[in-house]
Amino acid sequence: MPTPKALYYHKRGEILVKNLKSRHFDAWYCENREEALKKALELIPEGATVSWGGAMSAQQIGLMDAVNNGPYKTIDRDKCQTAEEREQAAKNALFCDVYLTGANGLSLDGQMVNIDGTGNRVAATIYGPKTVLVIAGMNKVMDDLDAAMQRARTVAAPLNQMRFLRDNPCTVTGTCADCKSETCICNQIVITRHCRPAGRIKFILVGEDLGL
Ligand code: SF4
Repeated sequence: MPTPKALYYHKRGEILVKNLKSRHFDAWYCENREEALKKALELIPEGATVSWGGAMSAQQIGLMDAVNNGPYKTIDRDKCQTAEEREQAAKNALFCDVYLTGANGLSLDGQMVNIDGTGNRVAATIYGPKTVLVIAGMNKVMDDLDAAMQRARTVAAPLNQMRFLRDNPCTVTGTCADCKSETCICNQIVITRHCRPAGRIKFILVGEDLGL
């Protein structure tokens, strides 16, 4: 017997998959992280060059471990020794076959909101990698685009700033002050509302709470 939350996520997942497909994204709903990992690995061809950014949910389902230990080539900024190497790795990621990322907010009608401090993640989502694979827990799904934007600005961004131990108004008060701090993460706020070429961006929605 599914829990009320599992049922709720399942119902909303069905709606969101349909609406994402209407915007030419590929989309699947998985009940849990084990199913999501299996689906993600089906979508990554052997030998593919894989990179990622802002992909905590992918990490939580075990995809990073699977990719790092599987038959793939990886571009991993965290293995770089210097700032220059990190920057070059972020640029090289734009040429990868499969880019793994997450969503700061999703609207039930099939649009994604992502906030980025450096811009490498949203750049790769917009253009470059052959395939973008978005892993997102159903806790990211809001009723409409305004609510998805609000979630990205007032929940995901402050939590990420706290994760990076940055000193911004949101890390002091817990609310966004629309700051202009040098370390502000809210530099790029991108709405991805449609997919061209069709199927380049693929969503795996997971019926669990994942990411920030
Ligand atoms: S705009 Fe500034 S205060 Fe608001 S969430 Fe972003 S970093 Fe925090």
